[in-house]
Amino acid sequence: MADETSPPTRLNTSVPHPARVYDYWLGGKDNFAADREVAEAVKSASPGVVQGVRDNRAFLGRAVRFLAEEGITQFLDIGTGIPTRGNTHEVAQAVNPAARVVYVDNDPIVMVHARALLRSAPEGRTAYVEADLRDPDAILEHPDTLATLDFGRPIGLVIVGTLMYIKDEDDPFGVVKRYTDALVPGSYLAVSHVTGDFAPESLTAFAEAYNAGSVPLVLRTGAEISRFFEGFELVEPGLAALGEWRPAPDDVPLPADHVHGAYGVVGRKL
Ligand code: SAM
Repeated sequence: MADETSPPTRLNTSVPHPARVYDYWLGGKDNFAADREVAEAVKSASPGVVQGVRDNRAFLGRAVRFLAEEGITQFLDIGTGIPTRGNTHEVAQAVNPAARVVYVDNDPIVMVHARALLRSAPEGRTAYVEADLRDPDAILEHPDTLATLDFGRPIGLVIVGTLMYIKDEDDPFGVVKRYTDALVPGSYLAVSHVTGDFAPESLTAFAEAYNAGSVPLVLRTGAEISRFFEGFELVEPGLAALGEWRPAPDDVPLPADHVHGAYGVVGRKL
């Protein structure tokens, strides 16, 4: 049996990957030269990116806490990222220790860490599926998904900081609909997504620097991001700049010169 703590052999460290680029910006250690090169190039083109990823992580925490407080006890978190502080199961289980979470990511390095994390999580309440978001059947029908989540009851579908990696030709709207169709009314969808709506020049430079490093990244408008929520009613404040989605009293205030680069949205299935 493979040693679960050593990197998997299919890990290609010479190609930048979003999970590791994001990890570098968050101050993590799970990144390689190719990831750092893209991360630094993007940071030069768009210096607000580090604040932006912190905002994104803070939004994830607030959105999951909100869903748990609304009574959601099951979460499907697609595009998990390398575990860091405030992972979905930790936030949800702080509100309700019985909360169950299925994590999904397509980066094998996330799997290595997820396995380590699962060893410390309560048995049966947290599962990890290595799969591509663009393959809903592989995720929705995976035995670990079905063993952990009950699709007859509401689920919180969390796709935070991830849909921008799905190109238009891969039909992101159709893909997300496959997941939302599998949810019963009363379920929730939480999304964050980069946009050029607030600062077009800075965000275009951000996306161009990202794409130059062979990592696809698509900016979408607020109207486009709202399309993920067909059949959902948005909870207050609706489509909002990330840092303005239900800011918590203990959040670090945004710097005065902060440039918004992403939206946060949470909706409830009708
Ligand atoms: N959701 C976490 C958060 O908000 O802190 C992590 C966001 S990180 C920027 C994006 C994650 O999406 C990465 O871990 C990356 O590996 C994952 N990802 C990108 N494309 C994916 C795909 N097609 N299928 C599954 N995961 C994907």
